[in-house]
Amino acid sequence: MTRELTILHLYPREMNLYGDHGNVLTLKRRCEWRGIKANIEAYEPGDKFPCEADLIFGGGGQDSGQSVIEDDLQKNAQALRSLVDGGTPTLVICGLYQLFGRFFKTHEGEIIPGIGILDIETIAGDKRLIGNIVCESSEFGEIVGYENHSGQTFLDKGVEPLAKVVRGAGNNGKDGTEGTRYKNTIGSYFHGPVLPKNPRLADFLIGKALDAKYGFGELEPLDDTFENMAHRSSAEQPR
Ligand code: GLN
Repeated sequence: MTRELTILHLYPREMNLYGDHGNVLTLKRRCEWRGIKANIEAYEPGDKFPCEADLIFGGGGQDSGQSVIEDDLQKNAQALRSLVDGGTPTLVICGLYQLFGRFFKTHEGEIIPGIGILDIETIAGDKRLIGNIVCESSEFGEIVGYENHSGQTFLDKGVEPLAKVVRGAGNNGKDGTEGTRYKNTIGSYFHGPVLPKNPRLADFLIGKALDAKYGFGELEPLDDTFENMAHRSSAEQPR
């Protein structure tokens, strides 16, 4: 039996910065290397929202891109919430990370409402938080990437961050947290893209998707020599 996963890619036209699309390619390749078929379904504003998705990815975007998708995102809030709450593995980066929370308040004071799946709020600061970033997660180990955001994200009390910042800004440059963990969802500021050089995150998402669909999420290990080299090289970059 060939196993098959559908990856829902949210708003690739507007929400795709600093190589975010590479996350989807990584998920697809890591599936294919294990004989798992991966179908990528790109969703743009106005499309018919798919009833089924085994894994969801959404990237970052400029404030203007977030405004373009804002209304459409609200229309799909219920569908996305039920997928996320039902345990569908989901990775949202930067711009969509912010909009999976309650809102993003831009530097001009405009409120872009989010869909409130994550109990977080984001307010643009005076200074953009830019540079290479290294974090440490008890679940995934060291995570490396690149961040570029004006938004400072604050987690409600009790919300679990993805990781602790070792070098860089993370959620807000103040409290030492990066990203959010909720059910099988990961929200994060890591661009880069994040998955090619942090394959444990990719395999977490694939494993959870297979487990939900086939009742077995164990993954055969891959040769990650190049992925690990990319990880080390990124970790050694100056801020
Ligand atoms: N516009 C948002 C910010 O600057 C998101 C940026 C991004 O996705 N890189 O905070």
